[in-house]
Amino acid sequence: MKNELKNGDSLKPSFGGFGRLVVLGGGESGVGTALLGKAKGYDVFVSDKGKIKEKYKQVLIHNEIEWEDEKHTEAKILNADIIMKSPGIPDKAPLVKQIREQGILVVSEIEFASKYTNATIVGITGSNGKTTTATLTHHLLKGELEVGLAGNIGDSFAKQILEKDYPNYVLEISSFQLDDIVDFKPHIAVITNISPDHLDRYDYKYENYIASKFRIAENQTKEDFLIYDADDEVLTIWLAEHPVQSTLLPFSLVKTIENGAYLENGNIIITINNNKIIMPTTSLKLEGNHNVKNAMAASTVAHLLKIRKQTIRESLENFQGVEHRLEQVLKINKVQYFNDSKATNVNATYYALESMDAPTVWIVGGVDKGNNYEELFPFVNEKVKAIICLGVDNEKILSAFGGMVDVVVETQFMSEAVKIAYKLAEAGDNVLLSPACASFDLFENYEDRGRQFKEAVRNL
Ligand code: ADP
Repeated sequence: MKNELKNGDSLKPSFGGFGRLVVLGGGESGVGTALLGKAKGYDVFVSDKGKIKEKYKQVLIHNEIEWEDEKHTEAKILNADIIMKSPGIPDKAPLVKQIREQGILVVSEIEFASKYTNATIVGITGSNGKTTTATLTHHLLKGELEVGLAGNIGDSFAKQILEKDYPNYVLEISSFQLDDIVDFKPHIAVITNISPDHLDRYDYKYENYIASKFRIAENQTKEDFLIYDADDEVLTIWLAEHPVQSTLLPFSLVKTIENGAYLENGNIIITINNNKIIMPTTSLKLEGNHNVKNAMAASTVAHLLKIRKQTIRESLENFQGVEHRLEQVLKINKVQYFNDSKATNVNATYYALESMDAPTVWIVGGVDKGNNYEELFPFVNEKVKAIICLGVDNEKILSAFGGMVDVVVETQFMSEAVKIAYKLAEAGDNVLLSPACASFDLFENYEDRGRQFKEAVRNL
């Protein structure tokens, strides 16, 4: 089979011809890359230090791709022409250091996969709101375009290119995927916002993390677009100091934007090249200011790709949101239960609390990632009537909010947390699970935490 290479290939000799592709990590993106690599003529080897899930092992076996798990055999890795490193593997892993020392080209899945498509790519990154904005953007586009949704969502980008090869893709892109790009270039890039996260992977330097996010625009030209939150000072200051080539389309809740999107009298106004569309926010199903921002970003993409106003409007109206993101679970005895289990940092919880329009019983806690809770104080003072700490170590939450709220309870069981919330909440109140912390102390992951919450609510 011919190795189909696209523009910019001459820069990367390892892409130019058959060779040995080693894939580190046998998860969704690793196995997808292995399949695509094999189809394009590479000699492929997959290696995972942990256990590869049975379903992925079966795919590798069925496709006659050599693999190993629970070890890395250096001799079979260091002879690679090109290595795809899965996003979960940190640079400080000894094997990765060795690979870099030998000068082997290391790329991420999006870099590798994008070599094999001419599709128009919308790349969405940011600290919070990636999944929501990517899913909403896909929802707006799919009414009129053939479009795939990939990245951190669903089937890997590589696998979709191999099996479907859509003419358009919306990709949710983490900073880890951006760390190993070479000339990946989305035609439309979105940075939803930036707040400190994953700093352990960036030498605890915030600027390294911000720079990583901005790599989404590094290969863009003025024919390409960068959509970003103009109310986010981290973004605007960085852009002022590190200009990009891209045509900028900012969005804002508070100021008028000539080219881009802004809010006026409850309407989103989007202007691109003097072509203006107006969308009412009243019909948005999603709660909260953060979701107005997500809707602005997604609608700007849709407007750029010439989706009709009517389609955008209808699609905004019927978008149901994504599970575990400020999800409305049930109303019981006039108390509304919200599942925001995906809020694993303070900024996400900030928007959840901001959007609460009634006295709230707040379930919070888990693995603290160096949180500073101060920005939540005004909302907690104003809206939170009781705090239920759900974590192994609740020390920081207790000391931050102990004096602020009359009722503070600790538990290590979701079912108990929900029962206590049920007892404390009165008609008209809200119960909000928005942990501001990771879930690994008591749960498998945030999905497990969210599901347990919903089950406990249903069992009330
Ligand atoms: P990501 O994929 O970046 O983690 P999600 O869409 O999964 O983002 O949302 C993660 C959390 O952040 C949820 O609690 C959600 O309610 C909240 N959130 C969504 N959009 C935004 C935004 N624009 N700004 C801040 N928080 C947001």
